[in-house]
Amino acid sequence: MPLTRVGQGQYEKLRQLKGCRPCLLTRKTACPSLFEGIRAGRYTHILLSPELAVSRGFHDVCIDPQFRQRVALVTIDEAHLISQWGHWRTQYNQLHVLRSRLGCSVAWFACSATLNAATLDEIIEKASFDTHTKVIRTSVDRPEISITILRMPARTKASCDSLFFTINKARDADGVYTPQRIPKTIIFLDSRRGVIAAVDKLRAMLRQHCQTLSTKDSQRCIKVYHAHLAETDKNLIYEQFQREDSFIRIVIATDAMGLGVDILDIAVVVQYGIPSTDGISTVVQRWGRAARGNDRVATAVWLVDSWAFEPSQAEDQHGVSPSVQRDPPTQLASVAGDLSDEDSSDNDSHLHHELTPRAPVRGSKRRAPNGQSDEEKRLALAPKVHAVINTTTCRRTTILDFLGELSHRQLPSPSPCCDNCDESLRNVYTPLPSIYKATSTRAPRKNTHAKALIVKLTD
Ligand SMILES: [Zn+2]
Repeated sequence: MPLTRVGQGQYEKLRQLKGCRPCLLTRKTACPSLFEGIRAGRYTHILLSPELAVSRGFHDVCIDPQFRQRVALVTIDEAHLISQWGHWRTQYNQLHVLRSRLGCSVAWFACSATLNAATLDEIIEKASFDTHTKVIRTSVDRPEISITILRMPARTKASCDSLFFTINKARDADGVYTPQRIPKTIIFLDSRRGVIAAVDKLRAMLRQHCQTLSTKDSQRCIKVYHAHLAETDKNLIYEQFQREDSFIRIVIATDAMGLGVDILDIAVVVQYGIPSTDGISTVVQRWGRAARGNDRVATAVWLVDSWAFEPSQAEDQHGVSPSVQRDPPTQLASVAGDLSDEDSSDNDSHLHHELTPRAPVRGSKRRAPNGQSDEEKRLALAPKVHAVINTTTCRRTTILDFLGELSHRQLPSPSPCCDNCDESLRNVYTPLPSIYKATSTRAPRKNTHAKALIVKLTD
């Protein structure tokens, strides 16, 4: 159980079940009396993080023979994090210690919604599962979430222009801001710096779009959420965003909101750029925040850097609007202020057979200032990331194949499925009106006449 919010959600659900007496063991709640209660068998479920599970305090509980006798099952939720987070939360690699303390008579169970073959191998090794452990696969498909992958116009990543579509519906026919017209949306970026930059841009776009809107109202409508926010602020944002009539309509977040968030009516989830680690698994986990209530439907959008598309396909398959289609496919990738966009740690071979041929393409040798050409960046992409972005067949099928789901069952495609199955899904995107660009408040680039003028005027 990796995150406090996951634990709190599970604790509340268990508490309502007849006969259950759970306890939530966190750094805040850990105290001698709670350990004593656990040792005395006062609780039916103990929810705790890997850090606490292998801690000295819990060690003393584990070696109590009476406690060990009562333990029936150890469950690892979100088990893919053993692989994803083990390098920086090192106790994730030490779950075998808990196993040896509890003894081999205790059953262990691990579950994850994004488990590829490489991750499974790592979980087996680090949590000391038997190599013949039974693997039960059920469908992780979310047919209620449609999938659309869009190419962001070249050189616009830092400006966040392509996020305009998320606020497009904010005003009514009279141009007046009507918050409830904005579908509840989470936009994911990798870094705190990226999140903070994006929120400023999107709030400015919203004020431009709804001229009656005050700065304060734009701040109430669009919030940031990352691990460094104060716990009180995170709780306030989460509690407000949970409400059906929430005045918060968009949250721009890092992975701090990627797990354990169980808000029922998220209608749109946007992945902005290519995640720096575990590309497809991360994107699928983040998309999974959408439509969690019964009978809800949602749209998952992945805005991908233009260089990631093969030039032969970019205009035909992924142009989503006239303004996007006009962008030459081999322009320089945006660099200033961009997030990390490589995924070299992920080299799963599941999709090798589906790879689009990556022979050098004429015209793709233009170099970004960081020295990498678009083609070199594409070659550095993890094969599965490249495959999902560049496939011309069903994206859902490609993703589920990577997650090991298609090898044993045939899936009927939901409707709507993905933008390759139903091109009309690309209509979710609306480009930033050119009139807004013309009056943009963006700072001019360095070494331009505009920048020189601004410096002169402000000196
Ligand atoms: Zn499809």
